[in-house]
Amino acid sequence: MKAARVHEPGRIMIEEVSAPPLGEKDVLIKVHRVGICGTDVGVYRGHVPAKLPVTLGHEFSGTIARLGSPSLGGFREGDPVTACGGWGCGNCELCQKGMGLFCKHRVSLGRTADGCLAELVKVDYRAVYRLPPNVSLEEGQNFVNVACAVRGFKKIPLPLGNTVAVFGPGNLGLIMLQLLKFAGTPQAVMVGTRDFRLEMAKTFGATHVVNGKREDPTKAILGWYPDGVDVVIEATGNASCFQSCCDVMKAKGTLVSFGIFAEKVKQFDPSFLYYKEPVIYGSKGGEGGFEEALHLLEEKRLNITPMITHRFPLEETAKGFKTFEDKNENSLRILVEPCR
Ligand SMILES: [Zn+2]
Ligand SMILES: [Zn+2]
Repeated sequence: MKAARVHEPGRIMIEEVSAPPLGEKDVLIKVHRVGICGTDVGVYRGHVPAKLPVTLGHEFSGTIARLGSPSLGGFREGDPVTACGGWGCGNCELCQKGMGLFCKHRVSLGRTADGCLAELVKVDYRAVYRLPPNVSLEEGQNFVNVACAVRGFKKIPLPLGNTVAVFGPGNLGLIMLQLLKFAGTPQAVMVGTRDFRLEMAKTFGATHVVNGKREDPTKAILGWYPDGVDVVIEATGNASCFQSCCDVMKAKGTLVSFGIFAEKVKQFDPSFLYYKEPVIYGSKGGEGGFEEALHLLEEKRLNITPMITHRFPLEETAKGFKTFEDKNENSLRILVEPCR
């Protein structure tokens, strides 16, 4: 089978490799749609740790090709499925306490195990989810990000408040915006740097947008809401935005940070911690949000397919990554389609 692999940072190779051998708890999945995520780009660039060489990719949908043992997990060959991007060992203290996300022996697709940018991927059956009949493979590819948004959303204390600012209209930021609007937040600001993504944020319910290239987001947001906003979502992964995120929070406000920061914050004024008594959460992965993510997809609560802007065959994975990194491309959700 063909796979998109990284041996050394900065270079993607399309290679012919043998299909992975299956253990009795493994499911072999024929991969139809893969969404390129910032984490994959981090592995490719070398700033997200990974065991190289590795096959990239961790967000996908597909159909079951083979089960490691008969009727494993109640699945059948041909079932349309998606999967979590990783899973814990299931045995250590953290896993036993339901915190497999922090398991030291965690398997992460596309990082510590071969990922889904291949014709076939091997996944532990505990990580596999059958797609409901009305959820297409096109929608199913974004399951992990919906779950990540749900996990982050659940951290926000209720009542949600009236105002929210989302920094970063990427795939996750736009899903989070939709989730917050669906939950009833009336006022939502989206901060970004690409007009095309900000326009999309408006169609998903943003009441204000700020292009950080032309306007200072802090000034703009505090102009509209002089006391700040109730909830701030950091979904840029850009450390230089962090100060703005903190500065636009209302007293007793909440900040949820999704970004994987690759750089340091060069200057940071932490005085808001005293003056505003905010609550700041980090949010990693989708654990605790997978079931709800499937329900949200099933109930068609989110616009998933309108976010797809580009598609590439597996052979052109490198082109897909280049498109992801090129800020002049009007790209949002970029799919690679190993099997059509
Ligand atoms: Zn991801
Ligand atoms: Zn574990």
